[in-house]
Amino acid sequence: MPAISKILIANRGEIALRVLRACKELGIASVAVHSTADADAMHVRLADESVCIGPPSSRDSYLNIHQIVAACEITGADAVHPGYGFLSENSKFADILEAHGITFIGPTADHIRLMGDKITAKETAKSLGIPVVPGSDGEVKPENALEIARGIGFPVLIKATAGGGGRGMKLAMNESEVEEAVAAARQEAAASFGNDAVYMEKYLGQPRHIEIQVFGDGEGNAIHLGERDCSLQRRHQKVWEEANSPALDNEQRMKIGEICADAMRKLKYRGAGTIEFLYENGEFYFIEMNTRLQVEHPVTEAITGIDLVYEQIRVASGAGLSVTQDEVVFRGHAIECRINAEDPRTFTPSPGTITHYHAPGGLGVRVDSGVYAGYKIPPYYDSLIGKLIVHGRTREECMMRLRRVLDEFVIDGIKTTLPLFQDLVDNPSIKSGDYDIHWLEHYLADSA
Ligand code: ADP
Repeated sequence: MPAISKILIANRGEIALRVLRACKELGIASVAVHSTADADAMHVRLADESVCIGPPSSRDSYLNIHQIVAACEITGADAVHPGYGFLSENSKFADILEAHGITFIGPTADHIRLMGDKITAKETAKSLGIPVVPGSDGEVKPENALEIARGIGFPVLIKATAGGGGRGMKLAMNESEVEEAVAAARQEAAASFGNDAVYMEKYLGQPRHIEIQVFGDGEGNAIHLGERDCSLQRRHQKVWEEANSPALDNEQRMKIGEICADAMRKLKYRGAGTIEFLYENGEFYFIEMNTRLQVEHPVTEAITGIDLVYEQIRVASGAGLSVTQDEVVFRGHAIECRINAEDPRTFTPSPGTITHYHAPGGLGVRVDSGVYAGYKIPPYYDSLIGKLIVHGRTREECMMRLRRVLDEFVIDGIKTTLPLFQDLVDNPSIKSGDYDIHWLEHYLADSA
């Protein structure tokens, strides 16, 4: 694979700026693509070149493969970084770029396909020695659903094989609920993903969400960079992420990390990946693998000192991994708060113009955001407008710092989720790290 000289960033918002910063530091030329609604975006201003790829609707711009390939041709970009979301896990996009001789900064199209279908992902994970949630062997049809559910034991969760964003998931508490839950899950899956195939899993009552960051060079070398605990969720959307997990000790971390790294070696996986688990009573249960950079990657960067975007670009250019497993050292603790342009209680989107903006600073503070005073948040996209990442030597120090930093952060003119984090940072359960994936929903309901 040839060295990369110009990267087109096929994304928007904070992640486009994040990737742009890596390009600048590495001395690689950058191309921003944007919709007409994003002409004023920070990453568009800072990129070496920019190309407008269509109207506001994502389907016609950030998801428009033809326009993006044309933008590569026009600018002579020899590689594409897809960020997260949009085309980042689209195997067809990876195939088309390859056919045009453009490097996709990510895994092979085959690996994206393998992990994009949850049934084949789970079968693959199992065959590679990764522990999985007990459940159906493959697809569940309405006629044999009850029998399979009895075999697994109640409650069971019915999930869409093409699933994402928590859609197409239905719970059946007992035998009488199976038929309806399967029908509802199939219907929602067909409507959301154009594929009504569903499978069944044992429903775990009080798990934590713990995910392992992996990296492979595509040649059979792979490492893990520890875990992130993303248990604080609302409607299956992560809100607060931390590394390390307050629930794991170093022995558990290295054990599950090594299982994942070993699986990636066998698979000859290339680039960044995240293996997601539910964790309950000391056991890990695989739920899915994401074949891209995650929103919450900065907490891993904070505790390892490794720039994951550098590493992605390095691997994509054929230079291999910059570190061996023995060289990976975990230092301190990091927490990320997702700042959304939303009401902090109802989570209703709050687009509009930011009148005042002041980002916090000081030791151990990182803000990844493309917004500024006077910036108008367009209503067409995801409401994530920034991420606050705080690092400290211990979890306690990290929480002390986070409290200070939240008080310093000013975003006026719109509603944001900042006040929610001000409440959370003083909550006894959060302070002690004692929470599961349902904790935040219960907390929000109780304090409504
Ligand atoms: P998606 O791709 O739609 O996000 P996931 O398989 O990653 O679907 O699951 C999303 C969330 O749903 C998990 O983070 C967890 O909160 C919940 N979940 C998934 N599988 C189970 C299960 N077997 N038991 C309990 N909760 C689950």
